[in-house]
Amino acid sequence: MPVLTRLIPSPLVVDIRPGALDDLGGVLADERIAQSGRLAVAVSGGSGAGLRERLSPSLPGATWYEVGGGTLDDAVRLAGAIKAGHYDAIVGLGGGKIIDCAKFAAARVGLPLVAVPTNLAHDGLCSPVATLDNDAGRGSYGVPNPIAVVIDLDVIRNAPARYVRAGIGDAVSNISAVADWELACRVKGERIDGLAAAMARQAGESVLRHPGGIGDNDFLQVLAEALVLSGIAMSVSGDSRPSSGACHEINHAFDLLHPKRAAAHGEQCGLGAAFAMYLRGAHDESVYMADVLRRHGLPVLPQEIGFTADEFVKVVEFAPETRPGRFTILEHLDLKTEQIKDVYADYVKAIGS
Ligand SMILES: [Zn+2]
Repeated sequence: MPVLTRLIPSPLVVDIRPGALDDLGGVLADERIAQSGRLAVAVSGGSGAGLRERLSPSLPGATWYEVGGGTLDDAVRLAGAIKAGHYDAIVGLGGGKIIDCAKFAAARVGLPLVAVPTNLAHDGLCSPVATLDNDAGRGSYGVPNPIAVVIDLDVIRNAPARYVRAGIGDAVSNISAVADWELACRVKGERIDGLAAAMARQAGESVLRHPGGIGDNDFLQVLAEALVLSGIAMSVSGDSRPSSGACHEINHAFDLLHPKRAAAHGEQCGLGAAFAMYLRGAHDESVYMADVLRRHGLPVLPQEIGFTADEFVKVVEFAPETRPGRFTILEHLDLKTEQIKDVYADYVKAIGS
């Protein structure tokens, strides 16, 4: 009998719990990721200082590198600095910008990356992509998956609430993204990777259906796991398809049309997902999603992030241009301005203002 199987690129260690950071050095040594304890730790100059103070005694072999921001130049500079030492691994300790810089630097110098996110703003913490600002705006760079993901829920509880809530929008948007993938399969014959779709959808559903909030550790546990699974789902499918459909095209359109006014990624994706579910005729699901997002304090109407209805209509109209080649409910319906206005008015009525 043939044994047909596949290997899934995934982290060796996923450690999500309160107090996980206290054991970081031990976990990395036990798993032979950093046997000598020589770690290059990338942190931010601001909020990273407190963590550096707290962790320094337990990581005696670590060298600390302050990362300026989230640009390609910052990442290249970090790689250049790290190149001068001998390290077992690079640790990205901080928010998305720090982790993306560390991911890129790790790929450049050929070292494994340990991701230690300090907020849960989006699903990039365990994905094979680094998003960095470059001279042309913003670029996505393919990188290996992190070798370990360590999320200390005590640290997450101290993060600004907005950067934890945003992750809820990004996780929940998976449901709309997978529905877009299924639509592309039905209409265009695009192949669905069932495992990637299952992981992404279950991650979204578990967050959507959880009765808790960002003040509870059990909710944070589910949210952190969902974001990690979303990242791995993208590795399984080899692209962002499982977690990115019309919801993310709307998000990108906000970013591109209004770079100075755009809200957080997860906030825009959650709003985009609730609207995309309505567009595809899944009205009950759209209303339920909007209710849940509202319960968590996330926006479901453009006014809640400072945009007018007309601006939102233009965002939706422009959205398909942000991901050429990706087929979602937006490309399928190919709505004109007046039609978008009408559906938007119906959406507002359905979810109640
Ligand atoms: Zn996302």
